Amino acid sequence: MDAEGFADPLPPRGSTLRQQAALILRRAGWDLAPCPIVWSPRMSRCAGLFVIEKDSRGVWRPEIRLSTPLLRRRDRPWPVEVCGCNCRNPEDVVRRILEHELIHYKLWMEGVDWGHTERFRDLAWAAFGHQSITHGIGTET
Ligand SMILES: [Zn+2]
Repeated sequence: MDAEGFADPLPPRGSTLRQQAALILRRAGWDLAPCPIVWSPRMSRCAGLFVIEKDSRGVWRPEIRLSTPLLRRRDRPWPVEVCGCNCRNPEDVVRRILEHELIHYKLWMEGVDWGHTERFRDLAWAAFGHQSITHGIGTET
């Protein structure tokens, strides 16, 4: 990762989630193509989730799900804290949540425990400057 990684500007407006994820992975220096990322209108407890599910042929498929109701909200007391980082707008929040879920994805791709392990924390800090490991926004859990 380059030294200015944390301060990189947001991806251009109108970027798809996959383009944003590709940018995050590239900046982290991780040679990975993003897994599918979908908006979920029914997710109301977690802002983001990394899930793996078997497809109809029994192959495990990774997917990142983002909560439409939580991540599209603009009426927050900005800035809000996500992953221990201050976020000033919904785009910022999406980026931080994506970074977090992409760490789960990277660990899963490596074939190691992809939970909130010590290695997860190390990567979260080293690659993105995350100071806390949560799936929530602000004081939400
Ligand atoms: Zn997590």
